[in-house]
Amino acid sequence: MSSIDSVLTETRVFPPSDAFRLQANVSGLEAYHTLCEQANNDYEGFWGQLAREQLSWHKPFTQVLDERNPPFYRWFGDGELNVSYNCLDRHLPLLANKLAIIFESDNGTVTRVTYAELYRRVCQFANGLKSLGITKGDRVVIYMPMSIEAVVAMQGCARIGAIHSVVFGGFSSKSLQERIIDAKARLVVTANEGVRGGKLVPLKATVDEALAAGGCDSVERVVVYKRAVHEDGPWQIGRDIWWHDLVKGKPEHCEPTWVNAEDPLFILYTSGSTGKPKGVQHSSAGYLLGAINTMRWTFDYKPADIFWCTADVGWITGHSYVAYGPLAVGATQLIFEGVPTYPDAGRFWQMIEQHKVTTFYTAPTAIRSLIKLGGDLPAQYDLSSLRLLGTVGEPINPEAWVWYHEKVGGGRCPIVDTWWQTETGSHMITPLPGAVATKPGSCTLPLPGIQADIVDEAGFPVENGKGGFLVIKRPFPSQVRTLWNDPERFKKAYFPEEYNGKYYLAGDSAHRDEQGYFWIMGRIDDVLNVSGHRLGTMEIESALVANPLVAEAAVVGKPHEIKGESIVAFVVLKGPRPSGDEARQIIANLREWVGSEIGALAKPDEIRFGDNLPKTRSGKIMRRLLRAIAKGEEITQDVSTLENPAILQQLQESV
Ligand code: ATP
Ligand code: MG
Repeated sequence: MSSIDSVLTETRVFPPSDAFRLQANVSGLEAYHTLCEQANNDYEGFWGQLAREQLSWHKPFTQVLDERNPPFYRWFGDGELNVSYNCLDRHLPLLANKLAIIFESDNGTVTRVTYAELYRRVCQFANGLKSLGITKGDRVVIYMPMSIEAVVAMQGCARIGAIHSVVFGGFSSKSLQERIIDAKARLVVTANEGVRGGKLVPLKATVDEALAAGGCDSVERVVVYKRAVHEDGPWQIGRDIWWHDLVKGKPEHCEPTWVNAEDPLFILYTSGSTGKPKGVQHSSAGYLLGAINTMRWTFDYKPADIFWCTADVGWITGHSYVAYGPLAVGATQLIFEGVPTYPDAGRFWQMIEQHKVTTFYTAPTAIRSLIKLGGDLPAQYDLSSLRLLGTVGEPINPEAWVWYHEKVGGGRCPIVDTWWQTETGSHMITPLPGAVATKPGSCTLPLPGIQADIVDEAGFPVENGKGGFLVIKRPFPSQVRTLWNDPERFKKAYFPEEYNGKYYLAGDSAHRDEQGYFWIMGRIDDVLNVSGHRLGTMEIESALVANPLVAEAAVVGKPHEIKGESIVAFVVLKGPRPSGDEARQIIANLREWVGSEIGALAKPDEIRFGDNLPKTRSGKIMRRLLRAIAKGEEITQDVSTLENPAILQQLQESV
């Protein structure tokens, strides 16, 4: 297969300010290179030292990496520890009265919890789990709204060595049922309801439906946290138990269950942007080490920070940067129950002002929609507490990056564009904000110790400027250990024969520029083939988004007799959805625009408008659905993770 062509050029560079660099945990490019060299010269020594320094061990490990059975790697394999101990107990001597969580509910009520209080709550819940007979290795499905209790439930499982599998509270009963069955969960933890954007989300009812649908015989009990004061639904005596009844009178101490470094901490089913969900299984020690390192490296964590990651705990981002990473370093973090657009599109900015957030981490999809709904709103708030911004989940289009930098970050905050995956557990390629100059749209350079590369089909590195497959050439501590109950699929999906089963294949395409910066071009499955040129989706989409009229864009290929594929673009304007002559005029202008931005080759053959794009519940554009729409096919695919099914109708209409 030929390489992938890169057509977009982005030349803006933003070096770290002196002020930021001087205070940074990794200060200056040289410091970054030194760390990389240390890792290259003594790979195991590098990771071993970090694991000894950053984690508290019950029994120290003697071996760092065990590669005898690839790709089933083991890290720190004879060590013992407890993840909850590392997130709570070890902070108590000094930080007992420090705030661990500031929780803001949908309607703005604020609850504050110290480390001492969080410790008590986790212990009581862990004792509650024990009283239900849950022990080490049992699977617990957590189907909760964003809440302090969701974090307590996860930490409570970790405390007794139970394996949690969090299912995002927006998933349907069918998705929930599938995940319960696959994990053979003994227990489900849920809430009677969730509240988002002023609306009630019927969580317990959805659990009831999932369990009634069959195949869930493994589930013995359902623990229900009472969130909304609303009439209680059906109650199955003997199975259902209120959270408050479960923890009532339970001891406020719970000896942590010491687990092996490699014992699974959790299973998390990936969002399914590209097909049947996979049960990604993570380890205890290596996973936590990744979360801690990246809190310090990427987020330049400082004890005075107010850290806010807006991701739901149902996603990996909410695992690593809500439930585990911030607590493991003793941070104060903000957790938000609601949505960014309620009561209006200023909610995030209002919360940053109110809670004096220093570090803000969100998704490009949120940024793009907040630009569309209120590009000038950030100016109405005092955002001067911010010192660092981050993004994750999709490539961020350069124009959205620049808006974020100027309007939210006041031109002063570095932006860390973090490339990583459910499978990698923590950041892989991202700027170190006090060391690496940023470029809008690039996730810049791999973290120290992460041997990322871009290769062709035979595994040879492609030259700079050429796109290829993003791989990671050596195992790293926080990587996925296997797919739950499916080691064969694990091998096939991530460690293909073409690379002798050695390289981890991420599934994304990317290219590198002259400075060695990485630019993610999209998913391999989404690459277009136009007149013999292979094009990633990201660059054409970014060219469209750079047009002042455009808020969001997605492009897909559609079979074409002569060109191989033609380009179909789905576009959301900042203004209302156009029709008739106006739409035709805008289409002509946008085609010209793309032609002049990146070349005639990339001009969309067809452009359609919608009020929004089909997205997964985690906010990612579902291009596989758009491909079907472009071809005029009936949609037979699994749309259970789709947030806004009504949009499909609109996008089926061409102008
Ligand atoms: P599935 O694997 O089921 O299709 P998913 O890949 O969307 O789901 P995640 O693991 O949450 O689930 O997302 C990881 C993917 O998100 C990456 O492979 C990449 O395509 C994209 N991504 C994440 N962060 C970035 C980033 N900073 N820049 C570009 N792409 C990103
Ligand atoms: Mg994926």
